[in-house]
Amino acid sequence: MLGLMKQRLADIHDRIERACDEVERDPSAVTLIAVTKYTTTDKIKEALDLGLRHYGENRVQDAMEKWLELKAKDVTLHMIGPLQSNKVKQAASLFDALHTLDRASLAQEMIKAQWTPSCFIQVNTGEEEQKSGVAPRDLEALLKDLPHQPHGLMCIPPQDDVPSLHFALLATLARRHGLSHLSMGMSADFEAAIRCGATHIRLGSALFDD
Ligand SMILES: *Cc1c(COP(=O)(O)O)cnc(C)c1O
Repeated sequence: MLGLMKQRLADIHDRIERACDEVERDPSAVTLIAVTKYTTTDKIKEALDLGLRHYGENRVQDAMEKWLELKAKDVTLHMIGPLQSNKVKQAASLFDALHTLDRASLAQEMIKAQWTPSCFIQVNTGEEEQKSGVAPRDLEALLKDLPHQPHGLMCIPPQDDVPSLHFALLATLARRHGLSHLSMGMSADFEAAIRCGATHIRLGSALFDD
């Protein structure tokens, strides 16, 4: 019998493939990021043994505690939570990608720290006050202010909204600005995100919850 996580991963891969089929996309163009923010070190080790190589954390301190030991050369670590400027140095020592770039001053701090991760701008597509990210109407100005063109855009749709509306908006914004990567889709909505063009999906509970 397959282990529970192995079974879940197989099921997730099936669902990714089916969603890709529906829109004639290549499944290899979708990167699965395993979000380990609520997970134990033991489960992370199990995921590593299953071959997962992309991981996401949303707090620098927690990530340091778990990953300094576990991080192998072939593991890509993604910062998916808001990043304070005073945490940039620490983040630079651990993370390979940043999904939550939301202001030019943060990009300046990153240059000072000589940190050049793959970057996604977080767009607050629902314009929610409590959520970070740049408002859609301010995206163009932010792009002009940044020292480097980012790789793509990221969003977290509002809890009570139809997620595909936000995914479609993010895809439209990315296309308009010539950005090729889209970080969107979580456990509850990753198939919709893939149908809208997600290149990076971020899954926590679908993989790890008991
Ligand atoms: C926690 C988190 C996820 C994973 O959420 P699940 O619903 O558990 O898949 C994805 N993205 C971000 C930014 C998160 O904070």
